[in-house]
Amino acid sequence: MSTRDYLEKNYYEALGVAKDADADTIKKAYRKLARKHHPDANAGDAAAEEKFKEVSEAYDVLSDEDKRREYDEMRAYGAAGFSGGGPGGHAGPFGAGSPFGAGSYQSVNLDDLFGDSGLGATLGGLFGGRGATGRRARKGADLDAEVTVGFRDAVDGTVLPLRVSTDGPCQTCGGTGAKPGTSPHTCSSCNGSGQSVREQGGFGFAEACRACHGRGVVVDEPCPACRGIGVGQQTRTVQVRLPAGVKDGARIRVKGKGGGGQAGGPPGDLFVTVHVRRHPVFGRKGDNLTLTVPVTFPEAALGANVSVPTLDGDPVTVKIPAGTPSGRTLRVRGRGFRRGDASRGDLLVTVDVAVPQRIDGGAKDALQAYRDATADHDPRIDLIANAAKE
Ligand SMILES: [Zn+2]
Ligand SMILES: [Zn+2]
Repeated sequence: MSTRDYLEKNYYEALGVAKDADADTIKKAYRKLARKHHPDANAGDAAAEEKFKEVSEAYDVLSDEDKRREYDEMRAYGAAGFSGGGPGGHAGPFGAGSPFGAGSYQSVNLDDLFGDSGLGATLGGLFGGRGATGRRARKGADLDAEVTVGFRDAVDGTVLPLRVSTDGPCQTCGGTGAKPGTSPHTCSSCNGSGQSVREQGGFGFAEACRACHGRGVVVDEPCPACRGIGVGQQTRTVQVRLPAGVKDGARIRVKGKGGGGQAGGPPGDLFVTVHVRRHPVFGRKGDNLTLTVPVTFPEAALGANVSVPTLDGDPVTVKIPAGTPSGRTLRVRGRGFRRGDASRGDLLVTVDVAVPQRIDGGAKDALQAYRDATADHDPRIDLIANAAKE
């Protein structure tokens, strides 16, 4: 690959994604296209192989933050900017001997296509990359999942069974890619090594065997379930433990429950984003539990002891001091969310003076008498004056 390739090729177009697509979108687009055009699923189809190379090359660049930035810069500034030491003007990653130097199969990052499958071990590598460089132990892919729990589960903590789907060896063929009852046989072109050597400029380049795409084995009749790719979906159940007091939006890491590692590498992790449903009465502010409590005007004006619910079951009595304005928040210590250190947040009770919709009879008489008795108190006395100040 040359800088010219960078200028001429539109990797975003190749993957069918927008220029500002995020990593996840790019990965998904690549996986979909890579499967569709996979040489093993399109035996002898040169156009598919070409397309597969194209999307692999595009993904190789766009999935790597540094390469993508250089690619974007180069396309923005043009070749002059690139060779002239402008932004992105260091040729390092693209020179000979780079991962792009020889056959593009070498740079195909199959971990993203078969990341969770452990297929590297099963198949001996699908392409030359593995055959040429040897298999390295690789950590499995991290997986993302989301769960929604009730408010009370978030308060107390809970254990949730979570169904997780990952790529794994096809169940029908056991990952060999061969139709059940048949088995792959050793590639006669490369005698099973998966690679051939190409001479160029006095150097020998190892590249993927074209007959077997570097697998070292050839499948005569592809497995109908996986179309010869050897990959299928596997679903398993992971028990996810949510700690007491887990917050809405929290991201819980479940170590080792992601995709399987390759060639003896450790498995990836599962990251679970937690959504907490709203409670009809309680709310949350940090470690504090919030609650709005309606009180009558006499309770607020004269003071009262009112009973309010808590999350623990037993209501608590809150003392409303005489002269409490509507909207004031009172604190009940230690009745909020549990913290990691076994201490607890508080219950924040906000007083809301309730005004009756209808009032008549003796209550109306009393209220009119109250109005007359307080006629010389005007709560808006400063309002007009203060409004005129600015
Ligand atoms: Zn299969
Ligand atoms: Zn071969």
